[in-house]
Amino acid sequence: MSNSPVWHPFTQHALEPAMKRIVGTGGAYLVDEDGARILDAISSWWVITHGHCQPAIMEAIRRASEAYDQIIFAEYTHEPAEELAKGLIEIAPAGLKHVFYSDSGSTAVEVALKMALGYFHNTGRPRGRICVLKHGYHGDTIGTMSAGERGVFNAAYEPFLFAVDRLPFPDSGREQHTLDAFETHCASGEIAALLIEPLVLGAGGMKVYPAATLAELKRIAERHGTLLIADEVMTGWGRTGTRFACEQADIVPDILCTSKGLTGGALPLAATLCTAPIFDAHLSRDRRRTFFHSSSYTANPIACAAALANLGIWKTEPVAERVAALAGGQRRRLQRFEADPRLRDVRQAGTIAVLELDVPTGGYLSDVGPRLRAFFRKRQLLIRPLGNVIYLMPPYCVTEADLDRAYDAIDEAASALAKGQL
Ligand SMILES: *Cc1c(COP(=O)(O)O)cnc(C)c1O
Repeated sequence: MSNSPVWHPFTQHALEPAMKRIVGTGGAYLVDEDGARILDAISSWWVITHGHCQPAIMEAIRRASEAYDQIIFAEYTHEPAEELAKGLIEIAPAGLKHVFYSDSGSTAVEVALKMALGYFHNTGRPRGRICVLKHGYHGDTIGTMSAGERGVFNAAYEPFLFAVDRLPFPDSGREQHTLDAFETHCASGEIAALLIEPLVLGAGGMKVYPAATLAELKRIAERHGTLLIADEVMTGWGRTGTRFACEQADIVPDILCTSKGLTGGALPLAATLCTAPIFDAHLSRDRRRTFFHSSSYTANPIACAAALANLGIWKTEPVAERVAALAGGQRRRLQRFEADPRLRDVRQAGTIAVLELDVPTGGYLSDVGPRLRAFFRKRQLLIRPLGNVIYLMPPYCVTEADLDRAYDAIDEAASALAKGQL
């Protein structure tokens, strides 16, 4: 244990080795205090898209920081926020018309839930329930924990979490059960919204389901006047192969949350996009209908400038091609693990590759996770398995050689584990 006063996230300080200090970053790499170059195979918790210290984004931050610091975002507005909102509406699924800024994925989802509940409240037909998918993750605030999977992470807060209706996860061949359960819940007329991570459930174990199921959930929601909130905090900005995962289902969610990759991962920023009817339900000469939400750092101009630079990169550089190339690289390398008895499952969603190890006690707290982490750390790889679920979600600048190194290490780790030598 170190004598640092810092309390780190998702860290059991009594068990973890002392933290390594990172002194610089660039591309797909972190550089630590000893000069070791560590491959960031999980994009620093899923935020870095193009690469660390992407030059155009860093330059935009430098320029914006000469003109702006935080500016109050009520009564006043500023160019970076205005331009970014226009840019987001342009590229988001058509039909999303308004942009509400906040500063993290959790707040983006809280805002979405409040928009949905406010919509029904303000239109005089209050609805009091939220539907979610089993194994979902939407953040660590009380509201988003309520909507997320319950377990060891939130057991201490359980009495303070509100109840939601959980749909079974659409496992392969069981999709209809999920759809039927949703239909039944919707028939009550009480469901304000379905809050869902499109195509991939991230922190819940990198579980993948088909776009057709998402499209069908949207159709059911529409039939019952239930809103669909797409939590694209992780899936956005190319991770699943398209800019937003919703594009693959060809749906327009009523509300879309984006954060992690919004600034390319350089600065914290989030946006919750919604359709005109949701905004209009809050538009009134009656002040009680105001959308009462704000974060102090709403629409930070420097963060907005970084996000604008990110939009610029998507416009001027072949990002879609890089994403496709990375997806192909992952697919080819996963093939060698198919029908591998050391693995329970191998799956992929765009740039995200998932290898689920066959161990007797799976789940997040299984100590195989920390042992794997240590194994990879020794090989200068930043890979943080979710229990027995190893995944790679690298930035798009990762090279073929980097990928080879990561997959070789995974192969080695799987063998060591199978031989009881991990
Ligand atoms: C990370 C994540 C969040 C929470 O974002 P924070 O910025 O950590 O608050 C919400 N939803 C999903 C799907 C996420 O992956």
